[in-house]
Amino acid sequence: MKLKRKTKVIATLGPATESPEMIRALIDEGVNIFRINMSHAKHEQVRKNVEDIRRISGEAITRVGIMMDTRGPEIRTGDVPKDLNLEAGQRIGLTVRGEHSAEEVSVDVNYENLIEDIRVEDVVLIDNGNLELKVLEKKHNQLVCKVLTPGTLKSRRHVNLPGVRVNLPSLTAQDKEDIALGIELGIDWFAMSFVREPGDVLRLKAILDYHNAPQKVIAKLEDQEGVRNLDAIIDISDAIMVARGDLGIEVPFEELPIIQRRIVKHCARSGKPVIVATHMLESMINAPAPTRAEITDTANAVYEQADAIMLSGETSIGQYPLKCIQIMNRIAARIETSGGAGYYEDTKMTSKFAQLVKSAAVLAEECKADALIVFTQSGIIARNAAWLRLVSTPIYAFSHDEVLLNQLPLYWGIQPSFLEHSNNPEAALQEAIQKLKERGKIETGDTVVAVTEVKIEDRFVDTILMETVES
Ligand code: PEP
Repeated sequence: MKLKRKTKVIATLGPATESPEMIRALIDEGVNIFRINMSHAKHEQVRKNVEDIRRISGEAITRVGIMMDTRGPEIRTGDVPKDLNLEAGQRIGLTVRGEHSAEEVSVDVNYENLIEDIRVEDVVLIDNGNLELKVLEKKHNQLVCKVLTPGTLKSRRHVNLPGVRVNLPSLTAQDKEDIALGIELGIDWFAMSFVREPGDVLRLKAILDYHNAPQKVIAKLEDQEGVRNLDAIIDISDAIMVARGDLGIEVPFEELPIIQRRIVKHCARSGKPVIVATHMLESMINAPAPTRAEITDTANAVYEQADAIMLSGETSIGQYPLKCIQIMNRIAARIETSGGAGYYEDTKMTSKFAQLVKSAAVLAEECKADALIVFTQSGIIARNAAWLRLVSTPIYAFSHDEVLLNQLPLYWGIQPSFLEHSNNPEAALQEAIQKLKERGKIETGDTVVAVTEVKIEDRFVDTILMETVES
């Protein structure tokens, strides 16, 4: 299938999609990256998922990346013997370490410093904000809270403490075990949950360096502290995720669109890949068509020129995972041709490679080239090519580095392909053109622009070539 969109699509695997048949069908629909969510996935299943994705994407020739998303320092309520129906105004005790509560209704929370770190009048949100509590009183072993928004409390629900500096390690023992598995399986990207400061990313990078592991790190921005430190976090990370699920609970909701735009803008200006995630087609977990608001939200992320848009529950547990991808394909392909925010346009590209790629991109768009070809060893040229958001010219990135080739699917517009390493740039270019012809991407008479090298006397010199494809 010839995909028209350049915005990449990430699909979270789960019970609805982890069979080999569904993985194949999702790849056929154009999924660029599979996300494995370690808040739910078991190691045995992860091994199987990675093996299946590699095998099936290898058969399809399509490069598909694998992202492992860490659980991070997550706060949860403990078990309740039966579901608790909480009424507005009712009191509830929040205990730690399973201590006794004098309140009629209470639940334990797995965060030992809860009582020290929270203030009276602070808000506690449970189950993704469905239940809202206000702290009335702090006792030595519990918080006494009042229910503001009523609802049902089930066992082990997610807890958010908006504005509270949660004193938990950025990488838990569980995260470290998961990361070890990701390194062993050779996944491509780690998405790190609840990044609050650049040091969090550095801690994960130190683990990767220690193991000489090539994975790149996506920082998930999902609380107020992460947003406060966003400039420094973007600088240190390989990519950013606007993790709107938690972010939308941790910040006042009217701030969310402003924060999303700030993050996407900053990433565009510094050339960092950025993902807009969560609730993009949420209603499609159960419904065969998206709401008008979801269509507009997805279109907005595409208009902002985020590198990727991400599906979570829609593909992991939803009833219509393939339809979700088809809908994203349609929205992205249409919106990309209607103009984009162009946030990257203010950027001064100072490096030699960036300027070279920019010149090639301008040439390719001006002469309506059918392909822009780049050769990339570290990924920098491909990243620069993606940065320019070339709407009409497809960008083909060739590399001999298998690890890099599986990371490139995240970058806006980049179509990665393997090419043997060669010391003869002219032969490499002809081989790349041949491969694109064989795959039906270009044909005789098409115009190709390439960023490559030419040999002048005994030196290789970076250059831009424009060629007509011969028969
Ligand atoms: C989010 O909060 O939007 C997110 C992507 O993270 P998770 O699904 O791990 O909560």
